[in-house]
Amino acid sequence: MIHFVGAGPGAADLITLRGKTLLEQADCIIYAGSLVNPELLKYAKQDCAIYNSASMTLEEVLQVMEQMEEDGRTTVRLHTGDPSIYGAIREQMDQLADRGIAFDIVPGVSSFCAAAAAVQAEYTLPGVSQSVIITRMEGRTPVPQRQRIADYAAHGATMVIFLSASLTAQLQDELLAGGYQADTPAAIVYKASWPEEQAYHCTVGTLAQTAAEKGISKTALILVGQFLAHAYERSRLYDPSFSHAYRQAVQKEDPAEAE
Ligand code: SAH
Repeated sequence: MIHFVGAGPGAADLITLRGKTLLEQADCIIYAGSLVNPELLKYAKQDCAIYNSASMTLEEVLQVMEQMEEDGRTTVRLHTGDPSIYGAIREQMDQLADRGIAFDIVPGVSSFCAAAAAVQAEYTLPGVSQSVIITRMEGRTPVPQRQRIADYAAHGATMVIFLSASLTAQLQDELLAGGYQADTPAAIVYKASWPEEQAYHCTVGTLAQTAAEKGISKTALILVGQFLAHAYERSRLYDPSFSHAYRQAVQKEDPAEAE
């Protein structure tokens, strides 16, 4: 059996209880070495075979999984954050399915959640943004047409940009070209939840300069949107004048339904 496990964003105690238990039981752990905190490997059994996939190809990873499976052993494939976000798990799952090897997935705390925590923000503010766009700049991995950064500007939604810390000058150009105002609030969060976490507030117009000044070019998320500013409406859910399934309004009733 293969378990794809989300390691969480960095801090070793942000893995799930289920993920930790699976690490403790695993006969083999293949971890994404560039971003998974090696501290998590302390949960491994003494005789656990440990591979860092940073230097391995997909074929090599599959070969290890196949061998373990043949020997009746359990493998944990440990991916950073949540495996469903830029985790490259689909190609592994499809190959495992072709070989008739069973697998499951344990979700993890994605770095985009840890980044919000780092800047003490809420991505979905009433009256400001009710949508979060997770995206990236095009690098060696192409981004499909109509999903470019500039295409999202019109929505004014919260934007979380992965894998683009080395491209902040181009990112800034794309955001401005898409129609973002230069004074739109932005933030750069480096290694969210790690001991060396850094978070900087800036604007779309000062994004590249801020990244350069702070020397940040990898392992960072860029957050963009008015959710980082101060204006918003208070939530309906906790509004005294709003009834919902679990609470009667104490003041004037609002006909809208609770979510
Ligand atoms: N599956 C992961 C993302 C993997 S892609 C997740 O859910 O978080 C790798 C990119 O994620 C990095 O280039 C960086 O943009 C971002 N990233 C991962 N961990 C991070 C962290 N702790 N702080 C900030 N960005 C992080």
